[in-house]
Amino acid sequence: PKNRIKVLLLENVHPKAFELLKNEGFSVEVYPAGLDEDELCEKIKGVSILGIRSKTQVTKKVIESADRLMAVGAFCIGTNQIDLEACQEKGIAVFNAPFSNTRSVVELAIGSIIMLIRNIFDKSVAMHQGKWDKSAKGSKEIRGKKLGIIGYGNIGAQLSVLAESMGLDVYYYDLEEKLALGNATKLDSLDELLSTSDIITLHVDGRPENKELITAEAFSKMKDQVIFINLSRGHVVNIGDLKNAIESKKVAGCAVDVFPKEPKSNDEPFESELIGLPNVILTPHIGGSTEEAQENIGEFVPNRIMEYINTGTTTNSVNFPNLQLPKLQNAHRLIHIHHNVPGIIAKMNQLFAEHEINIVGQYLKTNEKIGYVITDINKAYPQELIQSLKNIQHTIKFRVLY
Ligand code: NAD
Repeated sequence: PKNRIKVLLLENVHPKAFELLKNEGFSVEVYPAGLDEDELCEKIKGVSILGIRSKTQVTKKVIESADRLMAVGAFCIGTNQIDLEACQEKGIAVFNAPFSNTRSVVELAIGSIIMLIRNIFDKSVAMHQGKWDKSAKGSKEIRGKKLGIIGYGNIGAQLSVLAESMGLDVYYYDLEEKLALGNATKLDSLDELLSTSDIITLHVDGRPENKELITAEAFSKMKDQVIFINLSRGHVVNIGDLKNAIESKKVAGCAVDVFPKEPKSNDEPFESELIGLPNVILTPHIGGSTEEAQENIGEFVPNRIMEYINTGTTTNSVNFPNLQLPKLQNAHRLIHIHHNVPGIIAKMNQLFAEHEINIVGQYLKTNEKIGYVITDINKAYPQELIQSLKNIQHTIKFRVLY
């Protein structure tokens, strides 16, 4: 019975998540605040599904205290707050919402481009101080301008489509081979992108190698009066170099949403060398923060978790081998998670053979550390088979789905 599955939702995750998991028949407990390590170690006992946002630290100690945990849902994009390795070691699948706020970031990028190319923010601030300065000088349309997108992933590619529909001429550079959408032009090097674009926008991921991807050297390769946008990760841009580029008028305007050092809470002050510079839009890491994105996340994550619990599918799991499984008909589904060492499948199948059980379907996917195998069988199985499967050396978790 599904009500034996206990769900604990922390940090005010969207009510949609509660609704979906509750309707599924799970016992859902909601906790508006976060919990510190000790509290969570206590609370996690008996919990099968844990839902958190970015503040709750799911440490090794928490994982060790968990006795029934099957899945962790991160109702956000990042998963740095979770010890993914420890989860994997205990056969706990972790899911997040990698593209639930893509559209929100894209819209902010579009908005920023127009605001910057018309110098709207500085004009507005002046108006609030009673200054009327009507002039077309330095103001441009975006139509026909060259937009250079660095990082053509979820956000970069979506931006490409929307920007093109507004008349921008789109260029992109990505480390990987990516399909050019619409009329976008793929460029073969970062340098080429830097020297081609009137507007440059960063949408790379947070891998360590991207630290200070954009420094004085990169700015020197850009066109004069370039518009520059970073809504990706704070460490990707050297802020001192950006400041110099703004002061030397290399950069005519910039929007920055992410910073190398960000306040941990709304009570801490924001400090940056960018404060007070002309035509600079600063926002507090809100690129993806919209009500729609929150709702999307509240729907996406529970759906992945329910799919995992109900079918074993691990698509989009950040720490488990990704397997998309067919719906099951007239069969039992057995899920076996083990350390990735040779011979496990052979041992399992030996046991099935001994019990004269025919395998209807079997699916295996491994990563460096673990193996994930699903076996569908259509015969009633004896209890001792289950026990023997559990007893196979290097088994991490075993579960009978139906
Ligand atoms: P993604 O993983 O789908 O795309 C990233 C792309 O960048 C990939 O195609 C990758 O190959 C490419 N890439 C990585 N390093 C590169 C490099 N040095 N040069 C060229 N290409 C490179 O990620 P996404 O969902 O599109 O998100 C993009 C960024 O936006 C991430 O850093 C993410 O953390 C950030 N983000 C910020 C907010 C916000 O609130 N400001 C919200 C959501 C996402």
